[in-house]
Amino acid sequence: MEKIIEAKGLLSKVKKSNRWFGYDFNMNLYRGCLHGCIYCDSRSECYEVGEFEEVKIKGNALEILENELRSKRSTGIIGMGSMSDPYNPYEIKYELTKKSLILMERFKFGVFIITKSDLVLRDIDLLKRVDKCGRAIVGLTITCGSDELSKVIEPKVSSSSERFKALKALSDNGIDAGILLMPILPFINDTEENVRDIVKYAIESKAKFIYPFFGVTLRDKQREFYYDNLEKSFPGLKNKYIARYGKNYSCESDKAKELYALLGRLCDEANILHRMEDINNLFEMNKEFEQLSLF
Ligand code: SF4
Repeated sequence: MEKIIEAKGLLSKVKKSNRWFGYDFNMNLYRGCLHGCIYCDSRSECYEVGEFEEVKIKGNALEILENELRSKRSTGIIGMGSMSDPYNPYEIKYELTKKSLILMERFKFGVFIITKSDLVLRDIDLLKRVDKCGRAIVGLTITCGSDELSKVIEPKVSSSSERFKALKALSDNGIDAGILLMPILPFINDTEENVRDIVKYAIESKAKFIYPFFGVTLRDKQREFYYDNLEKSFPGLKNKYIARYGKNYSCESDKAKELYALLGRLCDEANILHRMEDINNLFEMNKEFEQLSLF
């Protein structure tokens, strides 16, 4: 189900102190999402999205974006995908993400895209062009090494193996790409085996970074949706969460400390970035300069 809405503005400035994946601005072209991830934070009441499965398409987004990009005094990196997947199924019809990349190339802005869909590969040539004049980096959210488990907790997105394939295709095409390893759900995928599998597949896919959160945040409507799904797919687990976390917003895995240490060690051995300050620095690198300096 879809609905066209009018947006008032698109780019929101990100404070330097909150810098996350190099973003200078945050942008969402869609509201709501059809991907059905059981842990989705964007269902929280504070975002006022309304009916979450009814995807709202910002019909005037490209016009607003063009005006906002033209009026900026300096360029920067635009983050996409924090509230709704920019490669959700409606992107095939409306192409707002694709057309916004064309505008970014024109005005020399860079982009960081978060997605769980291999539809991102449709725009690979465009991403290469944006990367030349600004910077284009893609973060695939991947939380499970196992396709079977990913289909339970992220039922309508590309499977984990399809996301790893997309990561490799991006890397093979010279686009820096990595993994958002989050959220990792207590008592479900917070295992050493899962971390080892993900790092193994990340190495095969030439991932530049893996950024983890070994836990999940839960509140209001989002918590209800999560618990309903736990009841369906993991009988008994809801009560375990209630006993362990009560009404806590941040529900960190009891194994978080050892899993951060394991991930850090495996990433260091494989030369994969895992600290946000290092990942932010990826955006500072001028690739053209890097390439020129080789000759
Ligand atoms: S892809 Fe992102 S926005 Fe969409 S349901 Fe999953 S977590 Fe939520």
